[in-house]
Amino acid sequence: MSKISKIGVLTSGGDAPGMNPCIRAVVRTALYNGLEVVGIKQGYKGMIENDMYPMQARSVSNILNLGGTILKTARCLPFRTDEGQEAAYQNIKAQGIDGLVVIGGDGTFTGALRFSQKYPDIAVIGIPGTIDNDLYGSTYTLGFDTATNTVIEAIDKIRDTADSHDRLFFVEVMGRDSGAIALRAGISCGAEAILLPEKSTAIDELIRHLKAGESKKKSSSIVIVAEGDKSGGIYDLAKAVQKEVTNYDIKVAVLGHLQRGGAPSSFDRVLGSRMGYAAVNALIAGESQKMVGLEANHIKLTPLSEALSHHDFKLEADLLQMVEVLSI
Ligand code: ATP
Repeated sequence: MSKISKIGVLTSGGDAPGMNPCIRAVVRTALYNGLEVVGIKQGYKGMIENDMYPMQARSVSNILNLGGTILKTARCLPFRTDEGQEAAYQNIKAQGIDGLVVIGGDGTFTGALRFSQKYPDIAVIGIPGTIDNDLYGSTYTLGFDTATNTVIEAIDKIRDTADSHDRLFFVEVMGRDSGAIALRAGISCGAEAILLPEKSTAIDELIRHLKAGESKKKSSSIVIVAEGDKSGGIYDLAKAVQKEVTNYDIKVAVLGHLQRGGAPSSFDRVLGSRMGYAAVNALIAGESQKMVGLEANHIKLTPLSEALSHHDFKLEADLLQMVEVLSI
């Protein structure tokens, strides 16, 4: 691979807090090393529609504390087609870009790998930016820590009102395929039970557990339900439980998109900076088709093909066991 001289950076898929600190690190590390940088708007859409602009050190001033992404993001169907990829390639070549940093989740990496296998003259490095914390090759993904803290703050407030009225709250948190946020938030907020996409929960067992809480005179209870739980939706679940658990008034709270917003935590600011810095250094070192990850507090590169072929992300077994023990 020839020496890199101009890089493009984009954010794609769902936005995640920490993307902005990461963009800042990519831009400034590249400039520091004498590379030119182009910001690509709305992920792969900007590549196809040639929506790009040159970035300077001041283009990324005062963004460390901002949630979302200054480059905007999109889900772009045309990039899944050969025609869309070809149009994107022609625009990238015309800009003189020879390296790309793509920040996003597994869909983003699938698109990036395909693009770079077809056009190997464009080097590509991926950065895991998703609140779901579900990518192989990195213990943490960008945005997960902030999103979990946001959930904790919301549930602490729900707990105040639940406690005042002897209520049982079912709280839905994000995670269609991943229970990572639900599990961490559940441990942090003292949830009675956590329902996850990775694990089926018997409703009668849940009811038994909640009734036991009633008899132990618990003044409030929180049940966390990840979006992707297979029990048939939070409202029906709450209705079914209410029929059996009569001493509590059961309420439902769906946290929704507020979980994606807000200022990135210290952890995500440092992680984003670290990953952005490492991604540019990887491109300079001649790497391509790799993902930057954090393992045992060290930056590690994993081939994108490997990161994508391992869907066996496992929730921590000790955390799962702790939920029952700590809610007696
Ligand atoms: P999140 O985890 O937040 O959902 P993601 O990166 O997985 O993020 P997706 O919408 O799945 O989000 O993917 C982002 C973009 O990547 C898609 O909109 C599309 O442009 C591109 N992409 C996804 N899959 C492919 C594919 N098979 N071929 C080409 N491009 C793809």
